[in-house]
Amino acid sequence: MSFDCNVCPGYCCSHERIAVTASDIRRLARHFGLSERAARDRLTYAYKTKDIDEQIMRHRKDHIFKSVCRLLDPKTRRCTVYAARPAVCRKYPYGERCGYYAFLKFERDFHDDPEFVPSA
Ligand code: SF4
Ligand code: SF4
Repeated sequence: MSFDCNVCPGYCCSHERIAVTASDIRRLARHFGLSERAARDRLTYAYKTKDIDEQIMRHRKDHIFKSVCRLLDPKTRRCTVYAARPAVCRKYPYGERCGYYAFLKFERDFHDDPEFVPSA
């Protein structure tokens, strides 16, 4: 792997459309001890356009990115449901490289500051 999620503020959790499947909702429901319907309503919402019909993770405002998934801890920048996280979160960034991490590392090296977070 050429990226390290442990030093990243969770850019991938700021994606506007983090789409989940029925089995993701079942897993999240089990994790929270909720019915599937309650988990779907509390954690996600329906996103529909002419071409798209998805169930999307709900967001909240964030001090680093415009908004992030509600299940990201705002302080630690870690997923609060890591073991039960949706499939799309497990697969991201779909390979050995993460573009945001490369950008973050470049900016931190440039500013000589390992904590630096560029505004996205
Ligand atoms: S996959 Fe990339 S953007 Fe997501 S937490 Fe890891 S380094 Fe950050
Ligand atoms: S479920 Fe976890 S890993 Fe997935 S977007 Fe939300 S906070 Fe990030």
